[in-house]
Order: sequence, then structure tokens, then C-alpha cells
Amino acid sequence: MQELIVTGPGELAWIDSPSPTLRSTEGALVRPIAAASCDLDRRLIACSTPFKPPFAIGHECVAEVLQVGEQVSGVQRGDLVSVPWKIACGRCAACLRGLSSACTAVTKYAAYGVPAGGHWGGLFSEEVYVPFADAMLVPLPAGTDPRAVASASDNLTDAWVATSTPLQQRADARVLVVGGTESLGILAVQMARVAGAAQVDYLDSDDYRRALAELSGANVDIGASSALDERYDVVIAATRDEQALNSGLLGLAPGGHCSCIGIMFEPPRIPLFDLYMRNVTLSVGVCSVRHHIPTVLELVNSKQCDPLVVCPQIITCDDAPQALIDPQAKCIMVRERITTTVAPTERHT
Ligand SMILES: [Zn+2]
Ligand SMILES: [Zn+2]
Repeated sequence: MQELIVTGPGELAWIDSPSPTLRSTEGALVRPIAAASCDLDRRLIACSTPFKPPFAIGHECVAEVLQVGEQVSGVQRGDLVSVPWKIACGRCAACLRGLSSACTAVTKYAAYGVPAGGHWGGLFSEEVYVPFADAMLVPLPAGTDPRAVASASDNLTDAWVATSTPLQQRADARVLVVGGTESLGILAVQMARVAGAAQVDYLDSDDYRRALAELSGANVDIGASSALDERYDVVIAATRDEQALNSGLLGLAPGGHCSCIGIMFEPPRIPLFDLYMRNVTLSVGVCSVRHHIPTVLELVNSKQCDPLVVCPQIITCDDAPQALIDPQAKCIMVRERITTTVAPTERHT
């Protein structure tokens, strides 16, 4: 089978590798048919993270199920499923608390597409092993567009959790989204509107993303960042820039909450005393997506949000090594299904 491998800084290649085997009665083999670039992928490919090549890239996809172990009951061959980025057992103490990102049944940080807790393959690859099929895989409801929910594995669900959690306690909240990464800010704008924000402002210096944010329902003409002080109940920081993060933090009103969903590898300086005096909360962390994916699939299917707004590039496998190096926003790589069952009426013709 073909694996998409980061071979060096800014270098991607399809490499022939042995197909994974079904190593557990609880496992499954799946074939990604719509794989999305996560906002982290560009930096993983550029090798500007602590994770060094070679490694298989990709941790967001919808896949078709090829084969399942004999103990698997939730999915079967031919099903389309969302594959969460994190490898998790579903029954350890951490998983039972909803912290699948901290599953203790596997190596710490075990995930697809990032060599942080071993090598588990990448979700752009042709075949992938899923060790805990029932705990991890989420079947797509009939009629779901796989491309639209390809990023439910990570970015789309992350955006939902980061916005809906603080908004649950703050009806009619004024929300500021600080954009900066390729897609998370735009997705957060959409999710803030779904979650009941009274107003969503968007701060970003990039004209292309500002246009997508406006298309997604944000107000993008919000004046200078220095004039935002204490205006917002909820801030979503989808940025890697320390100054932009601080503009967002200082935009928090007393009692506000900031969800920080951009990944910064270097520790930022933040205005802790200003935050202290406002009695605010700050959440930072990888999203344990698994429990929230069914909700996100429903939001997309009921057209309450449209993730394809941030997916201007639908690409083939051949395009992927070049397109993923510097994507405009999100790229969705599509691949033919091979398990499509023949409709009963066509069987005897
Ligand atoms: Zn990611
Ligand atoms: Zn677990």
C-alpha cells in the first residue's frame, strides 16, 4: 500500500509500504477516502515542530471499513466512518472521564500522523490500522458528505468544543475569534454562531481568511486590536502569534473565558496580572474529540455549519505531495471507494 511520508523538511512522498494487518480482535483496517489537512500539518511537513521525519502524515479523515476483528460490533466492512486523530481504548480511567487524548492503554500521545507516541500511520495513507474499532470509529449517518466532515477527526470538532463549552454558561455572549492558523478560526466563527453567540467578531491580518470569516458570519471590521479591551465574554485564540494571543486575552471582559486552540511550541508571555484582575478562565489543550464527533456530524448534516467554506482545494492522491506543503486553507484529498456494495436491484442484471 501507499503511505504519504514526510521525508525531510518540506518534502512529501508516496512510499510503498507493507499493508497493516489486523492485529487484534477489537481492531479494524480502514481505507481513508476523504482526508483533510490539519492546521498543524503544514508545520509538521516543514519540520518546524519537535517531530522529526520520516513519518506518515495525516490525522483527519473519513474512511471506509475494510475488515474488522471478531469482537467488533459497531462497524462492518463497507461502513463509512470518522476516524479520531487519537488512539484510545475507550475504557481506561482517562477515556471514561472523556479524556481520550490521555488514554493510558497505549503509549502516551499515541496518534495518527504525528510521531509523538510511536508510529501509528497517517490518515492520508491507503490503509490504516485502528486498534480499538468500537471505541474509536464513528459511523457516518446516511447521506453525509465525507468531504464535509473529513476534519471531524480533529479541527472541526476542536472548534465546536472550544466555542460551545464556554458559551453554554454565557448566553448571548459577545465572542472574539483571533484567527491565524489555516482553518480553525473560520471553523470557530461558524461554531460560535451555532452555539448561540450574540455577536462574533474576527481579528486577523490575513485578507483571505478575513473574507472566509465574513462569509461564515463574522464581523471583520472591528477596528484596532488595541481598542478591543474588555469587550468580549468569550475569546477563541486560533493563532500561533504571541501578540495576537495577547490582543485576544486583553479583549476578555470580567468573568470571560479564552479557549486557546492554536499550538505554540515556545512558551508565550501573557498578561497574567490583567487576567487575574478580571477573574477570567483560560483553557488550553488537545481536544478529546471522540465523544463530540456525533454532535458535529449532526451539525454539518443539518447545515448549521459549512466546513467546506475552508476547503477550497479538493485534491487527488497525485496532487497531495505538492498541495499539502503550502495549502491555501484546508486541503481535502479524495480517493475512490473500493467497498461500495452492489444495490440489490442490480445484482441479477
Ligand atoms: Zn491536528
Ligand atoms: Zn483509554
